Amino acid sequence: MPAYDELESLDPQDLLRWAVDTYGDSLVISTSFQREGMVILDMASRIHLGIRVITLDTGRLPEETHHMIEIVRRRYGFRVETVFPDYDEVEEMVSRHGPNLFYQNAPMRMLCCEVRKVRPLQRKLAEFRAWVAGLRRSQSATRSGLRKVEEENGLVKLSPLADWTGQQVADYIRLHHVPEHPLYARGYASIGCAPCTRAVQPGEAERAGRWWWERDTPKECGIHFSPDGSVRRGPDVTVGEMLKGANA
Ligand code: SF4
Repeated sequence: MPAYDELESLDPQDLLRWAVDTYGDSLVISTSFQREGMVILDMASRIHLGIRVITLDTGRLPEETHHMIEIVRRRYGFRVETVFPDYDEVEEMVSRHGPNLFYQNAPMRMLCCEVRKVRPLQRKLAEFRAWVAGLRRSQSATRSGLRKVEEENGLVKLSPLADWTGQQVADYIRLHHVPEHPLYARGYASIGCAPCTRAVQPGEAERAGRWWWERDTPKECGIHFSPDGSVRRGPDVTVGEMLKGANA
């Protein structure tokens, strides 16, 4: 196997092909059906239709994202395994802090992301040796140092589009007639949960519509980066500890 640094020069298709050959059934694509994720799915469909695809259903997704699951199933034939948060953890969190706790303060928002996104994904990824995500360096300052291949706690993460621009993504979509999430046509530039995402104004940063009410916090949910902006290192606290921390 080549050193990860040697893989940095591969274009997205070649990196995906290498990953399919190297990890086989232990490789998974995680997507929320944003533009980058759709480009990766389209590329993957030309390499190996049997590749596994997962998506997180946080329970707070916009209906348009469910529409995208149906489109991907029909267009590409991917089964799309939907990952849900733990029912007991959601019930405890919502009972104590209310359904819209994320508007209260940043720790509450991060608690919600941890319970609805980070933990379910980590549980699912434990089934695999490698996963593919649609991150790009130019999406935000937090992502500027992103590597195409990284390893964390024995799990390899691939970001084949790390060095692509938004224009390259748009060009690929147009050239290959890749389906687009309907919310882009309504001014969204990045798409997550319905109550935490809005359209952006001309000139605003790409991720300005995510948790738009927060000031001076990284526009990250914790899947890829910790709340302080550092690379995510894995679970280290219990939900009970997080709830205590959010109460503080
Ligand atoms: Fe909760 Fe909002 Fe994070 Fe979704 S984006 S998990 S609703 S805080």
